[in-house]
Amino acid sequence: MNRILQALKNKDSLSACCPGLLESVNIHLQSRVLQLQRENMSESVFKCGWVALMGPPNAGKSTLLNTSVGQKVAIVSPRPQTTRNRITGILSGKDAQVIFMDTPGIHQLRGKMNRAMLHSAWQAMEGADVLGIILDADLYARRLEFLDKDLAPLKEPIAAENRPVFVVANKVDLLGDKSKLLPLLETLHGFWPKAEIFPVSALSGEGVPRLLEAMKKALPEGEPQFPEDMLSTLPMRFMAAEIVREKLFLSLRQELPYSTAVDIEAWDEDFERGHVTIHAVIYVGRSSHKPMVIGHAGKNIKQVGQAARKEIIELLDRKVHLELWVKVRENWNEDASFLHALGLGAQ
Ligand code: GDP
Ligand code: MG
Repeated sequence: MNRILQALKNKDSLSACCPGLLESVNIHLQSRVLQLQRENMSESVFKCGWVALMGPPNAGKSTLLNTSVGQKVAIVSPRPQTTRNRITGILSGKDAQVIFMDTPGIHQLRGKMNRAMLHSAWQAMEGADVLGIILDADLYARRLEFLDKDLAPLKEPIAAENRPVFVVANKVDLLGDKSKLLPLLETLHGFWPKAEIFPVSALSGEGVPRLLEAMKKALPEGEPQFPEDMLSTLPMRFMAAEIVREKLFLSLRQELPYSTAVDIEAWDEDFERGHVTIHAVIYVGRSSHKPMVIGHAGKNIKQVGQAARKEIIELLDRKVHLELWVKVRENWNEDASFLHALGLGAQ
């Protein structure tokens, strides 16, 4: 040791005093550098990509999206088919950014409006890196015979997929006995042998972190595409319209089927006083629907306005003045240019 220390004082004599020492130090240093580089690399690999959430209506796609993103970005309703457009939510983490596309339920649909929804669902699928198929596991655990028919439009295209597919067996919180899931999981595995299957409850969050981790891993490497604090790519006015529409759905229940649309006609920001005035028009397809939306002495529309305003305030984090108008527009859901103007993208 002394010899080495002495030699270290005099660089020139080091190799002479300890032949082979410099070489082994060198090798050691080189491998240490490589190891550090590898560690650094694995730390800095960032994943970023698009996940399409697909599946039958009412499966819990919007709920899963909201739970994943940690905030309400899609409307959730106990009635099917309330998600009409492509809703995106963004989950940003230190090692990945997951961009979700919520899609209308894929199933057999009729009419222009429904064709527009189906078109938008397939479009979302085309642009995705990873596919998520969401199913109501509670329903199919009880009625396995429904599965074939409900999944008919998805079965073949998904089986032929080369992209990673995640099958989400949702609503497991409703299953008292989890072993009832097994025949369903086996059937799903038979449909899509390459897919990974995750039992979750989008509502309680059970199983969701595991699913998200697996989805992140399956994403391609890439830089984040959106700012870290952005939760959705949708404009705030679209989200405000969705909130009004959700409150309408909730208040009208059975009475008005899917024949209401909400359009934000004006959005006036008063930056000095920190508040925004929103004029929203609720379109109904028939004049007989108008009094239903308004309600006796305006009671219904008032409630819708109050509930929607509360949520829009949360969303925008400022004072909101919300004005609601009801207009009749016969057969609006068959009018392609009107659908387009509402952002429903009928082609
Ligand atoms: P989507 O049509 O697939 O977007 O379904 P939604 O997210 O709108 O959910 C449909 C209904 O199922 C709503 O009433 C949700 O509250 C409910 N739901 C969604 N996920 C769960 C879940 O994990 N457990 C239970 N019990 N209900 C759920
Ligand atoms: Mg939905």
